[in-house]
Amino acid sequence: MIHLLYPKLYVQSLFEIDQDDLYRRGIRGILFDLDNTIVPRDRDCCPEAITLWLKKLQQRGFKLCIVSNNRPSRVQALAAALGVPAVHRAVKPVKRSFIRAMGLIQTAPRETAVIGDQIFTDVLGGNRLGLYTILVTPLPGREFWATRMISRRLEKIVLHCFKKACDAWK
Ligand SMILES: [Mg+2]
Repeated sequence: MIHLLYPKLYVQSLFEIDQDDLYRRGIRGILFDLDNTIVPRDRDCCPEAITLWLKKLQQRGFKLCIVSNNRPSRVQALAAALGVPAVHRAVKPVKRSFIRAMGLIQTAPRETAVIGDQIFTDVLGGNRLGLYTILVTPLPGREFWATRMISRRLEKIVLHCFKKACDAWK
């Protein structure tokens, strides 16, 4: 059961993700979380370096879609600025929004990755559908109070178990 909370890949920064490796694994579509993954939660635009990195993914042939639990106005404005489709108020880890996002970019679960900063929404939701889940350390910035007070504390426990499991596999 706890394995559903473990990401397939855990990185400190988006820039550590090897785009060629994803392509070789057969990944063609990537579902992105928004807040603290590609945009700091207290900002209204995507940092330039991340925008360029996303463009590179698109040029490489990946189809991108944002899947966010945040409100329509914020999600749609940021998605429009990046030129990608989006699913807002996604209620992750519910499967429905991930399925809808895959429908928007026309990819099957086995060729779709999820990239996000939260275990209990992004990783759990993606794993439930068999997607390639990538956990990234959150961007610096203010967080939603419930994320800070509850989710991050529980994530610490899961990450501790995950690291122990990784060491055991070595
Ligand atoms: Mg997030």
